[in-house]
Amino acid sequence: MNGIVVVGTGQAGFQLAASLRENGHAGPVTLVGEEPGLPYGRPPLSKAYMLGKTDAAGLALRPEAYFAEHGLTVRGAERVAAIDRAARRLHLASGEALAYDHLVLATGSRNRPLPVPGADLPGLHQLRTLAEADALKAALAEARSVAVVGAGFIGLEFAAVCAQKGIPVTVIEGLDRPLARSVSPAMAALIEASHVGAGTRFLFGSAVSGLVGPDRVRAVALADGREVAADLVLVGIGVLPNDELAKAAGLRVENGIAVDAVLATEDPAISAIGDCASFPSPHAEGARVRIESVQNAVDGARCVAARLAGRPAAFTAVPWFWSDQGPLKLQIAGLCQPHDLAVRRGDPESGGVQRGVSVFCYRGGRLAGVESLNRPADHMIARRLLQSGRSPTPEQAADPGFDLKSLALG
Ligand code: FAD
Repeated sequence: MNGIVVVGTGQAGFQLAASLRENGHAGPVTLVGEEPGLPYGRPPLSKAYMLGKTDAAGLALRPEAYFAEHGLTVRGAERVAAIDRAARRLHLASGEALAYDHLVLATGSRNRPLPVPGADLPGLHQLRTLAEADALKAALAEARSVAVVGAGFIGLEFAAVCAQKGIPVTVIEGLDRPLARSVSPAMAALIEASHVGAGTRFLFGSAVSGLVGPDRVRAVALADGREVAADLVLVGIGVLPNDELAKAAGLRVENGIAVDAVLATEDPAISAIGDCASFPSPHAEGARVRIESVQNAVDGARCVAARLAGRPAAFTAVPWFWSDQGPLKLQIAGLCQPHDLAVRRGDPESGGVQRGVSVFCYRGGRLAGVESLNRPADHMIARRLLQSGRSPTPEQAADPGFDLKSLALG
């Protein structure tokens, strides 16, 4: 018996192994991952870890003893170079071969590179791994001014850290608002206002044409001729799925490794989960989605572990996500984009966003998702509403007197 082999020791790979044991699966389970060490969580890297509020030990998903106690083999610092589907065998970059009965691809995603001159200058950083977080944190301790390229989640979380540390920070974004692909315009406006209030400068509609050296980064050059002085630049312009291994093995790739409703590829001996997988979602009316979140990695892993333990079921968990940016806790339930109607619950004008506000997003007359800023109760209710398929009318959602909780509980 060769057992179950998982490529990737990230959030999804770890959870798959843990959930197999929780489901009573007793056979061999091996995780192979390119990064050294044991599985750790990435979310604190741009938040608590960057602020020095937690250390590397605090990032660990489980202490070392857990893996031995549960008979889980973790092989870190090992890259899988190829999959031989006919022989059900992996080829490791070290030259070794590793046989499997079932293979789970949990290869995650990697940072999208910034394709401009000077992108290899010292002083330019990206943030995905613990090693990158350590390098960024060390650079931040010396930085006098910071530029962030990309007003996505990671860019904004890092900008909030800079603001909290009193380091001047400019966020450069090609589109006309922050989080343009991720949240409603109403929510983006609230988030922008909060960052501006904390001292962050935004340059919207600004394309980066290069990084100015010569020996190390001194400024970010914009296509309109302006330059933004900075001795530390964080590039956060999205990620690309690590799907090349699957593609080279002849598996279908469609914005990630294409899997079906139970997260299986067209090869019954191979599944894919987490950031690297695209799957048909009932929360997107059956459309194929690829989701980059802890929830998606964890619930996808649980779904596959249950199937491998003999209890197959479609992956229907409600997607949810969070992002902490200084005083802001943004939580999103469901898949809000695209939406054709957005209504607000809570009044940010009276007391600012600290008092909390939610945006209920509708698609085709039904609740598609809810964005909550400093309103955790709304977020929990939204998850229940979406799981049960109960949709408040837009009028009910906007009415602070309407009891959404009772509707959610049925
Ligand atoms: P990953 O965690 O990326 O793990 C994949 C692993 O596979 C990597 O270690 C990679 O090296 C390895 N690998 C890839 N190819 C190979 C190969 N050929 N051989 C061997 N190993 C390989 N999500 C939230 O929900 N909330 C947040 O607040 C949040 N904050 C974040 C902050 C940061 C800084 C980052 C980077 C991400 C954040 N995320 C957040 C996203 C979340 O961490 C990811 O969605 C999650 O880690 C995905 O898990 P995964 O296992 O699919 O991929």
